[in-house]
Amino acid sequence: MELISVDNRTYVIPGGTNVGVFRIGERDCILIDTGLQEGMALRIRRCLEAKGWKPLALLTTHAHGDHFGAHGRLQELYPEMEIYAPPEERPFMSNPLLWLYVLYGAHPFAQLQVPVLLPPRLEEEKLSPLVPGNFRYPLEVLKTPGHTLGHTAFLTPEGVLFCGDALIHPQFFKSYPLPLVQNLSAQLETLKSIESLSPQVIVPSHGSWSLPCKDLVKANRDQIEFIMEKLLALLKEQPLTREELLSALGITREATQYLLYHSSLGAFLSFLVDKGEVGFALERGKMCFSKV
Ligand SMILES: [Zn+2]
Repeated sequence: MELISVDNRTYVIPGGTNVGVFRIGERDCILIDTGLQEGMALRIRRCLEAKGWKPLALLTTHAHGDHFGAHGRLQELYPEMEIYAPPEERPFMSNPLLWLYVLYGAHPFAQLQVPVLLPPRLEEEKLSPLVPGNFRYPLEVLKTPGHTLGHTAFLTPEGVLFCGDALIHPQFFKSYPLPLVQNLSAQLETLKSIESLSPQVIVPSHGSWSLPCKDLVKANRDQIEFIMEKLLALLKEQPLTREELLSALGITREATQYLLYHSSLGAFLSFLVDKGEVGFALERGKMCFSKV
């Protein structure tokens, strides 16, 4: 079960991160994302060699380690393969420490420098920019910001959407209830645009691709609303700092998760403050949020 077909030229190599494969002609293909561990590069090569295919290009949905961690190793295996990345994500791929600077707000201490947050760097000159409307292969490049600044999805001519982390399979909401977003208002717009696109099949980066578009979008929107209501209920009782809110949600188990949730909670709070539903004040050196 190494390479599963979605239709007659679209395939997935399932794993912790699903790798997309789009066949071009008889012998070539395009890949979408690689996964966290460098070992994924060997698994991808094994799958392609079994079919006699060679990758012409590798596309990146966004600069998170579990999506581009094996890019460098794969390029060593296929030096001719072009790597494409969204322009906003390129700096984070050529200098992955930047993302940890974003999450922690400064140079992170050593224990925070774990592979999922600090994958191997790539040379920026080797990353071709992915620009909608200007892509030479028969895949549509769609801007889907929200999860990250330059998050990008890819649509095949047959209507299969590789949506990266723009949509999360609801099976993960039980263990990871807070959706990871950098910009919530952009994420809500992305949900709308995927809904109106209504692709035949959506392949999320994590989990199965069996859910219809409307169910997947609804589950993601419902989860955002569920968290938003929870935050407003907590802030109605008393003013809280971002860290106190995170603690009150009771969902954080370890340091990596703390950083990701802390950042995402910031996006939720920005959205609510901009909407006028939440206010903030500095009290004894703490930034406290409260329901308006
Ligand atoms: Zn991600």
